[in-house]
Amino acid sequence: MLSIAIIFKQAHLKNSSTFIILSKNENNNLEMKSIKAVLFDMDGVLLDTMPYHESAWSQLFKEEGIPFDPKEAYYNEGRTGYSMIETVFEKAKGEKPSLEDISEMYQRKKSIMKNNPPIKNIKDMPQVLTYLKEQNIKIGVVTGSGQKDIIKTLQQFYPDIVIKENIISGFDVKKGKPHPEPYLKALERVGITAEEALVIENAPLGVESAIAANIYTIAINTGILDDDVLKDAGANMVCRNSKELLQILQEKLN
Ligand code: MG
Repeated sequence: MLSIAIIFKQAHLKNSSTFIILSKNENNNLEMKSIKAVLFDMDGVLLDTMPYHESAWSQLFKEEGIPFDPKEAYYNEGRTGYSMIETVFEKAKGEKPSLEDISEMYQRKKSIMKNNPPIKNIKDMPQVLTYLKEQNIKIGVVTGSGQKDIIKTLQQFYPDIVIKENIISGFDVKKGKPHPEPYLKALERVGITAEEALVIENAPLGVESAIAANIYTIAINTGILDDDVLKDAGANMVCRNSKELLQILQEKLN
């Protein structure tokens, strides 16, 4: 039933009033007893990194003489680094940058990121993952990030919870979010169907990607965009912080 509802909803994605009512109905029907894995986005969901990404992208595009509204970092969040650069560059200059230029700019963005203060996890999120682990629910991570130390960083904050094999990163996909490929690949990797999965996302393009893969999606709004942006992207539910998310999961799983 869920997948049928989601397909119907996708067809009405631009019809906001129909979509929101339908979305509320679906909330009540979420059958979490069949959930075998929860797939988490990384930036802005597991790790409190979005402010750093925002300032690194701002610095990079300033160096390039390309106008950049910091909100763009949030609207485009979830794209691979390559796709982000191509999108912003093309919008400003009316032509695509060469692959060589993209690669050079992405390296520079990653170097800027290295100068950031040490990152933290999103507040109270370790308790959410610990709870799921106690319920024998598998954990997957689906990120567009191409940072080489992702696994080390995740295991530092979520030791024995996030395992290397269940991380899909920018290195594993041809097409990043909002394409469904990252989440479809995660289903395959974790060994579950879309009906057995639940996605936690904070970004509109991430929500679109998960919904396009037919997975029930809860958005956690940890950034600066309005809740409506996440609802309009297709999120089945929107919560504001990890405590609210934990409450929803505890209610639905028990
Ligand atoms: Mg994110």
